[in-house]
Amino acid sequence: MSEANPLCLFWEGFEPAGWSAQADGSLVVRLSACAGHAPRCGGCRRSVSIVHERNRRWIRERDLIDRRLWLDVPVRRLRCGHCGVRTEHIPWLHGRRALTGALARHAETLARLWPIRQVADVLGLHWHTVKALDAARLERELPTPDRSRLRRLIMDEFALHKGHRYATVVACAETRQVLWVGEGRSRAAIRPFFEWLGSACHHIEAVAMDMNTAFDLEVAAQCPNAVVVYDRFHVIAKFGREVIDRVRVDQANAMGRDRSARRAVKRGRWLLLRNRQHLNARQAVRLDELLAANAPLMQVYLLKTQLKELWFAPSMTEARQRWHDWYRLALETRLAPVIRFANTLKRYVEGIVSSVNYRLNTSVLEGMNNRIKVIKRMAYGYRDSAYFFLKIRDAFPGNVR
Ligand SMILES: [Zn+2]
Repeated sequence: MSEANPLCLFWEGFEPAGWSAQADGSLVVRLSACAGHAPRCGGCRRSVSIVHERNRRWIRERDLIDRRLWLDVPVRRLRCGHCGVRTEHIPWLHGRRALTGALARHAETLARLWPIRQVADVLGLHWHTVKALDAARLERELPTPDRSRLRRLIMDEFALHKGHRYATVVACAETRQVLWVGEGRSRAAIRPFFEWLGSACHHIEAVAMDMNTAFDLEVAAQCPNAVVVYDRFHVIAKFGREVIDRVRVDQANAMGRDRSARRAVKRGRWLLLRNRQHLNARQAVRLDELLAANAPLMQVYLLKTQLKELWFAPSMTEARQRWHDWYRLALETRLAPVIRFANTLKRYVEGIVSSVNYRLNTSVLEGMNNRIKVIKRMAYGYRDSAYFFLKIRDAFPGNVR
């Protein structure tokens, strides 16, 4: 064994026998097998002395200074007494890929930080290769959630590919760990999650979700002890879309020829939907002027503020009382979008009242929603749901890892 040669540290069993430069500036190191180093069978790892044939393979290594580096490796096919003819085992290669383990690990490290496209450009690898390396790392490293400790869950859907297809994400409400991601949002689509949960379904106490999904029926069928809870984030967002937006557009249209007033109402969307404490002084003044000039907008704005209070009631009795007050005020507005919304919400009230007993932090859902959008932007272009889902699970490993 030629341990005297320090370059043998990099490529066990081989040593450099020559160098050359390519026309594109890359370097090629020609390796030869170290004398006295018996090759090992790729099947059983035993030393084998009978060589069946030799083939030269080109393998990408990590860059040397600013040059791409290739290894020209004589790979032996061995005649193993146990396995027959097998390719030798070379420990520093990355599986069957034409790259070394050192380069693969480097690509994995960079892919934790950057989008695949950038990693591929910097390393001079195909993005398919980088993506496969990153996906394999995630498969290897993502922890399997501990089913026995799950009590409170969050279920949410998000759009894949410009809203034409949907996926569902399930997270633990306490640790924020994403437990499962799957395509679709139907009862059948989410059933595999409950199958994975198995007997732990009985331990589930509460599941938070959006209204108007099929999740509640599946939860009722699978988790006999679970209460369905409708979260504030989704309900308030729905009120913004279906009531405030509708009333704002109706009011703008009703203004006829008063163009400046009309423009003020039309441009008020952001002010109306934003949380008041997030507005600066100038924006708060504009909002107050808008509301003062427009009674219906003022009414729906106050209803939104009051609706939020349902989730902060100190008891279920108080939550019910707040609901009855809110519902009466909603009907009194005589605004069609408000009445429609109030009557829809009436069907879900028990799920809102129950949230008093199962406080689930809505900011978790809001944060998840935003983070998934960012991952989607980074992942856009290769439309590989399986990889996208691994990246989502990776972004929410939970508090304990
Ligand atoms: Zn063998």
